[in-house]
Amino acid sequence: MVLCTSCGKRKAVIVVKSRGEALCKECFLRKFKDLVIKALTDARLTGGLGSKLVAVATSGGKDSSNALYVLNELKQTYGFDLIAIMVNEGIKGYRELKAKALRKLCKKLNVELIEVNLRKEVGVDIDEVALLYERGLIPFKPCTVCGVLRRYLVSLYAKELGANYVATGHNLDDEIQTFVMNLIRGDLRAIAREGIITSPGPEDVIPRFKPLYYITERESMAYFILRGLMTPHVECPYAKLSMRYKIRSLINYAEYRYPGSKYRLLKLKEEIKAKVEMPRTALRKCTICGMPSSRHICRACEMKEEISKALRELKLSKF
Ligand code: SF4
Ligand code: ZN
Repeated sequence: MVLCTSCGKRKAVIVVKSRGEALCKECFLRKFKDLVIKALTDARLTGGLGSKLVAVATSGGKDSSNALYVLNELKQTYGFDLIAIMVNEGIKGYRELKAKALRKLCKKLNVELIEVNLRKEVGVDIDEVALLYERGLIPFKPCTVCGVLRRYLVSLYAKELGANYVATGHNLDDEIQTFVMNLIRGDLRAIAREGIITSPGPEDVIPRFKPLYYITERESMAYFILRGLMTPHVECPYAKLSMRYKIRSLINYAEYRYPGSKYRLLKLKEEIKAKVEMPRTALRKCTICGMPSSRHICRACEMKEEISKALRELKLSKF
């Protein structure tokens, strides 16, 4: 039996090789919470969350459910309020199952859940986007559209609800996958932009932060199980089409062969970020929807426009 390296009393249930730790359930759950507090501290949030409203962008998956759970535990200590937002992207055989689990969790935690329907908001769902992509009518993969539109709708609703911050479920693995994708794309500006919290912007831009920034996917899964949280084991059918999916396998292989790779990549990303100073892009208002944007027309409105055009073409081709 391996004993917990933290308390030295109980049986270890998880070994974290890269940190040289073997932890029992109690010590692991405490460590997880401590890592969330570290993220909040590094984001300089711990002193300023009092009486603020935090909107958690939730999907019903393990990461955003964990973020919601831990923030709910911390809300009294730091004096903030919580609300959850879920965007229903309209992915058959996936979204409804995850949504059901999320509704249960929010009820259990007594957190209000705002459900936003992508089709109602923008006139299209991701199943339809996938069909347009498959037929070569749009250049964007489902995940690209899903990511941009979900982010857009969460910001829109968070603003309407009067939220001061948006918290997301991105974990350490997500962070370094994004870093490696940005490296491959040669996008230094994007590398400098990514972090625990978005840089302060104009007043109407709600800052986004990542409570699970220091937590690996494996630890997040362990926390989810040890807390007894539930979600159906279904994967989005479009995940495999994305660049992230391939990069994720590549990084997991590197971690398996060379333990500690993930932490080293995170450290490298932080070092680059600290050294690179990119001039801030001035924000204006999108001329279509009025949301803050670095361009004349925001990316979400630009995509919506291209998708509507493709949908018209698809309908015409059916006659
Ligand atoms: Fe959306 Fe892609 Fe995630 Fe599926 S895998 S929910 S399409 S971002
Ligand atoms: Zn817009």
